[in-house]
This record gives sequence, structure tokens and C-alpha cells, in this order.
Amino acid sequence: MNISIIGSGYVGLVTGACLAELGNKVICADSAAKKIAGLKKGIVPIYEPGLEELITSNVKNKRIKFTTSIKEAVLKSEVIFIAVGTPSLDSGEADLTGIENVAQSIAEHMDGYRLIVEKSTVPVQTCYWIKKTIAANLKHKHKFDVVSNPEFLREGSGINDFTHPDRIIVGLESAKAEEIITSIYKPLNRPILVTNIKSAELIKHASNAFLATKISFINAVSQICDKVGADVTEVAQGMGLDNRIGKYFLHAGLGYGGSCFPKDLDAFINIAGKLGYDFEILKAVRETNQKQIDFFLEKIKNALWIVKDKHITVLGLSFKPNTDDLRNAPALYLIRALQQEGAKIKVYDPKAMDKARSLLKGVVFCKDAYTACRSTDCLIVATEWNEFKELDFKRIKKHMRRPLIIDGRNIYDPAYLQEMGFTYIGVGRQNG
Ligand code: NAD
Repeated sequence: MNISIIGSGYVGLVTGACLAELGNKVICADSAAKKIAGLKKGIVPIYEPGLEELITSNVKNKRIKFTTSIKEAVLKSEVIFIAVGTPSLDSGEADLTGIENVAQSIAEHMDGYRLIVEKSTVPVQTCYWIKKTIAANLKHKHKFDVVSNPEFLREGSGINDFTHPDRIIVGLESAKAEEIITSIYKPLNRPILVTNIKSAELIKHASNAFLATKISFINAVSQICDKVGADVTEVAQGMGLDNRIGKYFLHAGLGYGGSCFPKDLDAFINIAGKLGYDFEILKAVRETNQKQIDFFLEKIKNALWIVKDKHITVLGLSFKPNTDDLRNAPALYLIRALQQEGAKIKVYDPKAMDKARSLLKGVVFCKDAYTACRSTDCLIVATEWNEFKELDFKRIKKHMRRPLIIDGRNIYDPAYLQEMGFTYIGVGRQNG
């Protein structure tokens, strides 16, 4: 099938590369000329495991190409996926100008039937507006359908998540749309749930809001653990063994960040408010998330006593492992807050250093974790990259001025580090 993806970011590129791998002819379009120029030269602008290889092999097979021309994308494809960004406005409302612009361009260039597949995360009723916008801007009375097909991939495991999703959601209202969209996803052989359009839109917001709620819940429990000397990792394990609860998203830590949870929660709270429902639970989830990182900052301050002029190592910058994405990364918030108190910061991240250089000022970027620990008073783990789990702590201890580890992701065994002579502070753990 000839497919276009408009918006070539994390979601657009993974979707495009995976659909090409399934044998479709894909055009990835984006308004960012520099990004497209790079992609044409084989430069993949994001780090996502396996993506570069997948794009390279499909470019060779002539199954994927890149353009800044929405006109070309619309003219050459029967199916058009929308995967542009939907960032937050200051009010928390989703900024849907990208979606509106794309809908207008699609209408302008359509020369026959098109299936428009809305993949960006959007508030309920957005597809209704997309339909209205296309209908209002059509030059000729061409037929079209709009499908809501929210994406659930996680950065860092995007390709596997796209090809092996727990479920594929398609909200639609015509048999033709159903036939086309299910035939695209059929080769994946995964469960497809067909719903009405508004339900599909809501499934995405409700899912992300629920996952964020799980994280804030266990973080709240971690505060109680700290107060009484219980261990939140044990509490979470015991809770997670209950199938009704499940073990995922029960890791206490610095709280959630990233490009999705904070903005999607804001957007869900906002649209709920507009519809006349005050989503109090989600407001509490958001507040708990902010309190969690501030609480962690207090732990650092309590451990160091005076922060001014202390040398602090921060391991991990990206908002989670296996990605270079720094959007709403808790590490950035921590570093800036510690700098304000006068701390001197050294950092290391396996993949996010290049992107971090333009965002962090006055920070020493180190080539590895050991160099970052030289002569420091405190090591903070902000992102749970696997390589941090396997550090040589004898070496780390020799490098540090003071053997203090503050583990924002609970990746270490407190007893092991204490035996080695470290002071260990985790989140919601004994001795925390
Ligand atoms: P991104 O910022 O990485 O990519 C968005 C791309 O859209 C950018 O390259 C931008 O230049 C392009 N764009 C914006 N407006 C455009 C326009 N008018 N015409 C053409 N291109 C345009 O964003 P992302 O992380 O890929 O997210 C895209 C959408 O998918 C968002 O709604 C997001 O919430 C959702 N989503 C993201 C993830 C994730 O893990 N990143 C997962 C599921 C869903």
C-alpha cells in the first residue's frame, strides 16, 4: 500500500520504518527542512534502538523516502497517517495547530479518496474537527474517512512496541475505513479493537492517565515507607503479584517525565474541565509527581547539609533509559535546582549528552560514569540505564571524595553498597 506519514518524529519515523518493513511504500513528511535533509543523507535525528538500521535497509529497498512536501505525500498515498506533535499550551490545553494545518493541507491536495489516520495523541473530539476541517477546505468533493489510531509505543522500545503491541485501537465509522486499516495491521497478527472514534481517542488519554496514576500512587506509598522504614520495592513486589494490580508501573523514583505523560495529563484534565468534569484524581496525580521530585531534592540537601560548592555527579539525563529524549526529564529539573543552590555538577548519559549540551549550562559533560565521579561528594542516579546497574563500585569509591550514593531509581542493592562503605539513600527504602 502507498502510505504517507506526516510528522517524522519518534512516532512518525518508527511508524514509517515499521510499515515499510511490512512491505508498504512509505513517504515520511515533515515541515522541519533540516530534519528531512538529514534523513535524506541517512542521518536519523533521534536515538531509538534499531531505527537507523530499519530506515537504512528500507531506503535501500526503495520502500521509504522523505520529503518536506505535504503535497507529494498526499498525492502519492491512499492512506495518510498524522503523527505531528501535540504539545501543551500554557493553559495545559493541547496545541492542535499542527493537526489543523495538516488537515487543511490534506484537503488542499487530495485528488481522490483518502483514508486519514490520526495517530498523534489528541483530546476527544479532535477527529470530528479534522473531518470538519477537511470537508471545509476540499477543492473537489472527494470522499475520505478519518480513523483514530492512537499510538502506544514507548521510546526506547518503539520498534518492538509497534510490531508487538498489546492491542491496536482503531476508532472508525465506515466499512471501507475498517477494511483498509485492518489490512495494514493484519501482518502484525496482534489484537485489533475496533471502536467508535471518540472511544478510541479517549482510550489513549485514559491509558496514559492511568499509568501516570500508578506511578504517582507508588511514589506516594514510597513516602510512607520512608517514614516508617519499610521498603517500597518490597511493597510494590507484593502488590504487583496480585493479577488485578499487575507489576508494571509500580517503580517508585523521581516521578514521571517525558514528552507524553505530563502533557497528556494536562490535556485530559483540560478537556475534562471544558466538558464540565473536574478531574480531581488526575490533578492529585500531577501534584504528587511534582512533590516527589521536590522531596528527592530535599533528600539530597539533607544528605549534603550545605549544597553550595559541593561537587555532584548526575548519572542519566534522558527521561528514561534507551532514549536521548530530554523533554521534561527529571534530571534536568534536579540539575538546575542544585545549580541554583550553588552545586557544581558533572554529568554522564550514554545517549543524551549531545542534546543536553544546548539545554544545560555550567555543567561538566564527562565521557563515562567513572570520570563523572572523580572528586565528587555525591553520586545521583537520575535515569536507570542498564550500564549504571553494572558499575564497578570499587573504582567508583576510589574516585569519589565522599562515598555517598543517592539512587533516584532504586536500581542498587542498599546492603551491597553499604557493605562496600557507601552511604546509600534510595526512594522509599530502608535507610532511605
Ligand atoms: P516529535 O516532536 O518527535 O515529532 C513531531 C514531528 O512533527 C516533528 O518532527 C515536527 O517537525 C513535525 N510537525 C509538526 N507540525 C507539523 C506540520 N504542520 N507539518 C509537518 N510536520 C509537522 O513528536 P513525537 O514524540 O513523535 O509525538 C508525536 C505525537 O505522538 C504526539 O501527539 C505524541 O503525544 C504522540 N505519541 C508520542 C509517543 C512517544 O513516545 N514519543 C508515544 C505515543 C504517542
